[in-house]
Amino acid sequence: MVAGSPVVFLDRDDTLVVDSGYIDHPDKVQLVSRAAEAVRRIGRAGFRVVVVSNQSGVARGYFDEARLNEVNDRMRTLLSRGGAELDGIYCCPFLDGPEAKVEAYRCASDLRKPLPGMLLQAAKDLNLDLSRSWMIGDSARDIEAGRSAGCRTILIRNGRADGAESAATLPDFSTRSIIEAAMIVERESDDDVVVRDEPLGGEGAGRAGDAEQTKLLAEIRDLLDRQQREAMHDDFSIRRLVGTLVQMLALVVAAWGVYAMFSGQPGHALTRFSLAVFLQLVTISMNSGDRSG
Ligand SMILES: [Mg+2]
Repeated sequence: MVAGSPVVFLDRDDTLVVDSGYIDHPDKVQLVSRAAEAVRRIGRAGFRVVVVSNQSGVARGYFDEARLNEVNDRMRTLLSRGGAELDGIYCCPFLDGPEAKVEAYRCASDLRKPLPGMLLQAAKDLNLDLSRSWMIGDSARDIEAGRSAGCRTILIRNGRADGAESAATLPDFSTRSIIEAAMIVERESDDDVVVRDEPLGGEGAGRAGDAEQTKLLAEIRDLLDRQQREAMHDDFSIRRLVGTLVQMLALVVAAWGVYAMFSGQPGHALTRFSLAVFLQLVTISMNSGDRSG
């Protein structure tokens, strides 16, 4: 069997999107600062990215699953505008107890964090290697679910964490933001390549690292090329605009000279023609500069 991929599981509310209470409409979806960049960097570090989210709002009757999907779609769209793609979104709509107003969703589900059901389901669906994986979230139940699934964990301390900390909810790392969490994953997974994979994988692991590095260098080169091209393009556009304006001015001054000639002011006409010729020369020199650039 092919070895599974490592994954970074991400909580949704207050980890990827700003939690405005129970998000019941796509228009209320707002990414937290640098969320897309964080997801992009995690993906580039060689991880799948899967969102795992308790959405008891469905059981509570605040919104249905169709609306939940619209909200998630909106999150996907906003992320992909920032160049970030998700490999999966798992939500638990269930809740046990009297607060669950919708009968069909009233049950104790092992999908609901702090239980690891969603993580285990995703691992099965997507062939993930949980032992090389991470769970990032802002609450104790995220950490507990991650630990139960055998992942390393990062707690984002945004002041809204729920639940008391115990051995089960002690994270491997804690940070203040999703982007810092992504950087920890990058840093720690670099160590993995050297420390963990090299003695076992030997050449293979080294080649994987090289390939990753080559890809990164190629991306940097592309970016620099693109910026250079854009800068040159901007420069051309400004030159052309100024050139056109000077050319128009030359024509106006020439016309003004013709007017002076016919209204019996040859002195003025000569001055204006000279000025028009000068402006025309400026235009020509600008255009030739344009071509050589
Ligand atoms: Mg949360």
